[in-house]
Amino acid sequence: MNAHTKGTCYLLQFERPYRHARHYLGWTVDLAARLDEHLAGTGGRLLEVITAEGIGFSCVRTWPNTTLADERRLKNRHRPKLCPVCNPLGAKGVSRCQT
Ligand SMILES: [Zn+2]
Repeated sequence: MNAHTKGTCYLLQFERPYRHARHYLGWTVDLAARLDEHLAGTGGRLLEVITAEGIGFSCVRTWPNTTLADERRLKNRHRPKLCPVCNPLGAKGVSRCQT
């Protein structure tokens, strides 16, 4: 896996906010496996904390055929704006989560 490896960027929304966080943006080559890791509380520090607090989450948006560089680009943006739940108009026509 390198900078040119194609994978999927994904946006998770928590069922309730944790401190100031309500979203998690990540990138993976295997979304289904990655979501399983998150559910198990083993995939990334923020999700570990969320899971430990008993906060559920759902995958609200995916960007297929993207690279780690794309993930960095997306991370520079305001996450609620990328979210079709928080911003239905701005995120119109986007691909919802597909595993
Ligand atoms: Zn949202």
